[in-house]
Amino acid sequence: MTDPYLYPAFLGPYGENDALLEKLLVEFLRDHVYWRRNVHPEDPPAIPTRAAQQPAFQAFEAHMRQELHALSAALKRSVPFHSPRYMGHMVSDLLLPGIAAQMLALPYNPNNVSSEAAPVTIDLEIRVGLQLARMLGFPHDPAQPYCAFGHLTSGGTLANLQALRLARALKCFPVALRGIAPPGLTLPEDDRAAYRMTPAQSIALLQDWQRWLDALDQSTRVEWQRKLDAARVEQLGEARFFARHAMLEPAPVLAPVTAHYSWSKGMKMLGLGRDQLRLLPTRGMRLDMRACAQELAALERRGSSPLLAVAVLGSTEFGTLDPVHELLALREQAAARGAGFAIHVDAAWGGYLATLFRDPTGRLRTLAEVAAEFGGFPSADSYAAFAALGEVDSVTVDPHKLGYLAYGVGAFVCRDQRSMSLLAESADYVFNDNCNDDYFARFRQLGRYIPEGSKPGAAAAAAHVTHRVMPLDHAHFGRLVRQTILASEAFVDRARRFAVEVADLAHVCIPYPPDSNLVCLALNPVGNRDLGHANRWLRALLTPLRMGRDSTVQAHAFFTSSTTLRADLLGRDELLRVLATLHIDADSLRAGDAESDRLLILRHTLMNPFLVDDENGIRYIDRYFEYLGAQLRAPGTERPAAAASCN
Ligand SMILES: *Cc1c(COP(=O)(O)O)cnc(C)c1O
Repeated sequence: MTDPYLYPAFLGPYGENDALLEKLLVEFLRDHVYWRRNVHPEDPPAIPTRAAQQPAFQAFEAHMRQELHALSAALKRSVPFHSPRYMGHMVSDLLLPGIAAQMLALPYNPNNVSSEAAPVTIDLEIRVGLQLARMLGFPHDPAQPYCAFGHLTSGGTLANLQALRLARALKCFPVALRGIAPPGLTLPEDDRAAYRMTPAQSIALLQDWQRWLDALDQSTRVEWQRKLDAARVEQLGEARFFARHAMLEPAPVLAPVTAHYSWSKGMKMLGLGRDQLRLLPTRGMRLDMRACAQELAALERRGSSPLLAVAVLGSTEFGTLDPVHELLALREQAAARGAGFAIHVDAAWGGYLATLFRDPTGRLRTLAEVAAEFGGFPSADSYAAFAALGEVDSVTVDPHKLGYLAYGVGAFVCRDQRSMSLLAESADYVFNDNCNDDYFARFRQLGRYIPEGSKPGAAAAAAHVTHRVMPLDHAHFGRLVRQTILASEAFVDRARRFAVEVADLAHVCIPYPPDSNLVCLALNPVGNRDLGHANRWLRALLTPLRMGRDSTVQAHAFFTSSTTLRADLLGRDELLRVLATLHIDADSLRAGDAESDRLLILRHTLMNPFLVDDENGIRYIDRYFEYLGAQLRAPGTERPAAAASCN
């Protein structure tokens, strides 16, 4: 049942809280207008009071209204993300505190590129970084020099790009520093050792270097700083940097095949080369640690180590959680042998699940405490993955996904803020005292560290207010996330009963036991053994479940999404296992043929907090399966000839 805590948190599927939102909007719009007037109350209105009576004014207004009506009408064809009938992509209703804060901040138009353009919201952005750091288990006391740092991005894609930038900077900095050989500084013995330092060692070296610089007079210091800048990969570019360090070869990025395509984009954007992204196989859609260990060993034999190893916490297509803890263990072993590398967790989707594991004091809850609230969640591995998060080097989280905020807010959080000076666009001299004030003073010049330039302060305000109203622990924000896991557990139970109910019509299975709140469903009509036919059949079933360009919203009973299981990504064995469950012949799997080299499946994101409506006794999950059953039974449903002959 829906947790009553969530009742005031959303506008609601029916717009139930319209009066509340309206009241807030009007109140704060007026408040904004008073503020305008009070900046210099002696300034008279610049737009004449009688302007509104002029024909040109009225014509403008009429035209504007016309266009707004056209827009509003067109937007009625939007996808109804707010509805519990929507189980498609990673989006749902928006949290009320977020909408209100964003709309409140919008007319002030703060630009979070620097504090000069956003004296208020830039601090809020830095605080959001600290809120997320606490949720993840990173050090989050800005008075400590090793405190984490996080900032917002347009989305997970840019946060992942930032992870690549930082990993490269950390890996190449010691090499560049060795190259300029500052006298008296202890440096790695050769380029290879420099290139294989752990992020922690690299940060320690950076500290040494900064202390070394600090002891110099101003002009000598600037000279050395310039020398280093000139030797860095960011200055030289990959080609010239590696030409200069003949002992090295560019290190690859390791990620599971389930990784989001933003990783491919990032490799291309940074000029690292798509070939340098090594996609590792999965087992049960989770990073295959044996394959990962083999890849690491192969790199080690060549005297190298990865640029970055990526674990996905909540894969985009399947919601599966990679064993972050096992990757960390491998990293510790490799580091002990002198082959260090950075670990990034792409938790664009699953990041907010971490709220379930934190209590209001910030303590990590025990497995038993968390498990007591659910049927089967979390598995021991899922728990261990979240418990280990605080040890990784950086994390991507998308507030505009499981954070229920409007689009335009991703986040990048790195474990140790000291590393950020490597990304600074111009020399970073703020490094003496590490008091609280310095932390904020430094990052108020946000534009120097982030991939973007101008960016919306209103988005930071939305995230900050939301995290204040609903702190990122199990007793607050976690109650919303909990609802999504409970919905998924209900969905899985219902799907199992559904499989029995329709056994005469279709073979139905859940191809992977879900780790979280994303559940896939594979179907094949009874009697069919051909993969190509199963895909065509499912595509027909999917048509009414998806918005088309010309769809009428009301004509759709439910909304889902789909994905495919591909042999070339998953491995043939994994796919054959699923095909066997569905009674599809292995020899109908044909490589290279787009229709029969993969299996099309339904994908459900169970984010809506009102999927189980006790108020009206409606369980949308039950209704969805009733709908699916009716579709299977409908006379119009294409039946394979083989099925007909069986009857
Ligand atoms: C959605 C997603 C991304 C990309 O995030 P955007 O906000 O769409 O840019 C990256 N990684 C994962 C795992 C995702 O789910």
